Amino acid sequence: MSATFTEPAESPALLLLGQRRDLLSERGVDCPGDLPAPSDPDLVERARKAKEKLGDRVFVLGHHYQRDEVIQFADVTGDSFKLARDAQNRPEAEFIVFCGVHFMAESADILTSDEQQVVLPDMAAGCSMADMADINQVEDAWAQLAEAGITDRTIPITYMNSTAALKAFCGRHRGAVCTSSNSETALRWAFDQIGGVEGDGKVFFFPDQHLGRNTAVLKLGMSLDDCVVWDPRKPLGGNTVEQLAAARMILWKGHCSVHGRFRKENVDALRERVPGITVIVHPECAHDVVNAADMVGSTEYIIKAIEAAEPGTAWAIGTELNLVRRLANAHPDKQIHFLEDTVCFCSTMNRIDLPHLVWALESLVAGEVPNRIVVDTQTQAEAKVALDRMLALPAPAPAND
Ligand code: SF4
Repeated sequence: MSATFTEPAESPALLLLGQRRDLLSERGVDCPGDLPAPSDPDLVERARKAKEKLGDRVFVLGHHYQRDEVIQFADVTGDSFKLARDAQNRPEAEFIVFCGVHFMAESADILTSDEQQVVLPDMAAGCSMADMADINQVEDAWAQLAEAGITDRTIPITYMNSTAALKAFCGRHRGAVCTSSNSETALRWAFDQIGGVEGDGKVFFFPDQHLGRNTAVLKLGMSLDDCVVWDPRKPLGGNTVEQLAAARMILWKGHCSVHGRFRKENVDALRERVPGITVIVHPECAHDVVNAADMVGSTEYIIKAIEAAEPGTAWAIGTELNLVRRLANAHPDKQIHFLEDTVCFCSTMNRIDLPHLVWALESLVAGEVPNRIVVDTQTQAEAKVALDRMLALPAPAPAND
């Protein structure tokens, strides 16, 4: 028996998300017009028809962490950076429907032409990591560092997983964007501008402290003591001027809520349970987890490693569950384990579901452009400076979250 849940009108006590701190945002984002019911048996056919009607006018991008029900309609799949480049390489597509999260759609808007319109099927698909580095907090932190006399030998580097405003900040201050696969090259490039890795210059790294720390320690040979964390809620980020002056990496206190769930104990438990298992994790995981793993790399790196693995081998994967499940289904000849023992998807990625995709595609067919993501001209220009600096780095930059 199935029933449709209806919240009682006279007593709107039950909130489907969160804890009643922000009633408007916790109820999600409304779609103007009719959002199909998830139970509609015609959803697949409706998506197929709408896409067929739009033809080459639409290009659907599907991030690796998206649900299978959405991925089946993607023209290309990939990490956020690859998808933005794919959109850039499809100038004839009038509409880019980005099945991913908000910062990814922003990057696509920055890299595509003004004629192309980028659509995010659900505006509630944000990224908790990107949201942890608010531009006003970052500007305030930079002002404090300037007062402490530190900014003239500090280069800001932001991970691709950040808002366009933060990328623009890096563009304005001699900095660049990096991905999880070129973070080493980007950090070396930054240090080269301020006396080299052995000098006394610093990198201010946003928003993911783990990627910054893992890269500095495991790739650049720094020590954990070379890294300090900047907590935006504390004066001087919770440090003394002396600590900041001595640090080589100032790491913004941000993390991915999905990759932050993996623990070293998960690695130890799986090794005990499955002798000979290979543990592969994303560099957004905490430093002790990365240290305990056998391999570390971006989603593209993880996908390639599993594809290249011998049949019969056992793997524990520490990244988002939609991707791990898809890999397990695609490689039944290999034993694939999810590194954590509880099931946890990226909740914001999962906001994009088939009803929202159908709604977005059918709106485009009807001549309306829903949920368009537009980055203002100045932010776009400054963010592009930081992105172009990354693109000019010697190593290719193909992969990211
Ligand atoms: S997996 Fe983490 S970094 Fe990626 S969108 Fe979700 S919260 Fe953001």
